[in-house]
Amino acid sequence: MEQRFESLTIFEFQERFPDDKSCLIYLYEQKWKNGFICPGCGNTRYCKGNKEYILQCTKCNRLISPTSGTVFHQVKFSLLKAFYIVYYISTNSKGIASTELSRKLGLRQKTCWSFKHKVMNAMQSSGNFKISGKVEVDETVVGGQEEGVVGRKNNKKKLVVFAVERKGKGISRLYGKVIKNSSSKELRKFMQTTIEPDAEIKTDKWAGYAPLKKDFKNLHQEVSGKKGKNFPDLHRAIMGFKSWLRGIHHHANHLQAYIDEYTYRFNRSNMKVNLFENLISRMMKLGPYPYKMIIN
Ligand SMILES: [Zn+2]
Repeated sequence: MEQRFESLTIFEFQERFPDDKSCLIYLYEQKWKNGFICPGCGNTRYCKGNKEYILQCTKCNRLISPTSGTVFHQVKFSLLKAFYIVYYISTNSKGIASTELSRKLGLRQKTCWSFKHKVMNAMQSSGNFKISGKVEVDETVVGGQEEGVVGRKNNKKKLVVFAVERKGKGISRLYGKVIKNSSSKELRKFMQTTIEPDAEIKTDKWAGYAPLKKDFKNLHQEVSGKKGKNFPDLHRAIMGFKSWLRGIHHHANHLQAYIDEYTYRFNRSNMKVNLFENLISRMMKLGPYPYKMIIN
């Protein structure tokens, strides 16, 4: 089946996945492409199970379907519709609202919303590829009344720290995280998981960054300037994110998931990666993601 597809048109997608069975076969091949391993006892030998595409462990007799232990297990709609949701999310660079998915697929909006969040969960950074070289870091307020507006309180606004990796004339990568406050502790947590310790980091003069020079020896502080004019690339990236967010979402709920969605796509925009394939494979590696976890 090693037929690669860069970015499928809707026609190609429909040809590739005409029914539930074709989706199940795809997951079957994904799940066991490196061989069988029993999640119960670790045995690597199997025989055919009681149904097509179900394998049985020869040691503990456990039956394992391609979807078991993944977000695709026991979804309340067809596997084909689940694949369509992943397809629409992966091909709409502006993101897609759950109301639109609901209309396209004839599913309840809440059902689409919840499955969409399972897909977004798979867009989280693995943390395996830290940014390096020339890096800029800054915080910004998202949602509610933004900076500059005095006298109004909006509890829904959130503080986000962003980091960009600069390459040539532009930005090669972007990461962001919702933080409780702009203390050194919060900033350090984010920076240690996303930035290499020897990166050349530029931040503004905020006192919270000063203690981090112990962790990042090439951290330099510079006056940010009016509207961040000394950090043009970073501020362009932040503005890009905010306008994307405003395009489909008018609130800052689940902000981290939306940051993950945006940066996942942003960081792959120059790579020849098939986002649909990449997402399915990430979703197969993650365990179930129940509603309770999404709303927290
Ligand atoms: Zn077993």
